[in-house]
Amino acid sequence: MSRIANRMECIDSSGIRKVFALAAKLDNPINLSIGQPDYDVSEVVKREAVSQINAGFNSYTQTQGIEELRDAIGVYYEGRFQAKLENVMVTSGVSGGLFLSLLATVNPGDEVLFADPYFVMYKHLVNLLGGISRPIDTYPDFKLKAEAVEAAITPKTKVLLVNSPSNPTGVTLNDEELQAIADVARKHNLIVVSDEIYEQFCYDGKPASMAGKYENAIILNGFSKMAAMTGWRVGYAAGPADLIGAMTTLQQYTFVCAPSFAQKAAITALTEDPSERIEAYRRKRDIVTSGLSESFGVVKPGGAFYVFPKSPNGSAEVFVNMAIENNVLIIPGNVFSEKDTHFRISFAASDDDLKKGIDVLNRIAEEA
Ligand code: PMP
Repeated sequence: MSRIANRMECIDSSGIRKVFALAAKLDNPINLSIGQPDYDVSEVVKREAVSQINAGFNSYTQTQGIEELRDAIGVYYEGRFQAKLENVMVTSGVSGGLFLSLLATVNPGDEVLFADPYFVMYKHLVNLLGGISRPIDTYPDFKLKAEAVEAAITPKTKVLLVNSPSNPTGVTLNDEELQAIADVARKHNLIVVSDEIYEQFCYDGKPASMAGKYENAIILNGFSKMAAMTGWRVGYAAGPADLIGAMTTLQQYTFVCAPSFAQKAAITALTEDPSERIEAYRRKRDIVTSGLSESFGVVKPGGAFYVFPKSPNGSAEVFVNMAIENNVLIIPGNVFSEKDTHFRISFAASDDDLKKGIDVLNRIAEEA
């Protein structure tokens, strides 16, 4: 009998492990693979966390999170999207929200739809729960379209995961595009899980959310990206009472609560003005897209901090290996996709590293 449960066979992290194994051999790589901002948590937010710890705010909180933060999140969404969040709960990062929302809704055999390319966790979590992952091919423009969602629906489809702006493509859906997807979900009685973790990194046009567009949507968001609180594990979920109720029950027996001091500090993070950070990342987005567009097929990302260019030769894995041999760390697309034709660059790096990395990628594209 195996010591490890059978469900672990559903998780295959070999792709990303290969990249890390190659990277470990590099001395001082130009690292364009990181999924977190290149800046630290701001001083005011740090001060608030430290002062809460010193004041003794170190115990368990309510399972669903402290009321003050839940209220502040509601006010934030209302201000940003003119939409009311229902039943806000605080989770251990958006990862916690994804896990709880899928655990609460997916039965073995249920089909879960999401765009391909996808955030790695989606496929693995669905498979872990005995659900059936149904990635929807969105190449070459990476937009999840309502018609493609509708075409993928079967009698077994239960959940649709939406991620805008997207990891790994940065592609961003606007209000009309999200509403069209919501309308299809309503027609087929699907539960939508909307991962909005990158919504603050929005470079063009009006930011959009699934909030207020569909009554059976669970909105997920958190403090790992703009606020850079990745290690503090704070996120949130909001949606229909029965679904959030089930997620809260599950949280009670799993995560218990998000870190107490970090919940307090998250309230401070919500009061910060992110415009300088957005401006800096818009500039990085422009540096990367214009720097790569001659040698690579690039879809300009409207948000997040990733670009997903097409590899100049057939296999992205081969191209990524060449890049790593030249000291530039990027991630092959097959980690995020059923295809191996593209690669992910994170532009959450210094302008200097971005420029150096672009030079190397353009040079090896000529050789490839
Ligand atoms: N969703 C997406 C699309 C992400 O890129 C990430 C982080 N890489 C997460 C969720 C998880 O973030 P966290 O758990 O730190 O909030």
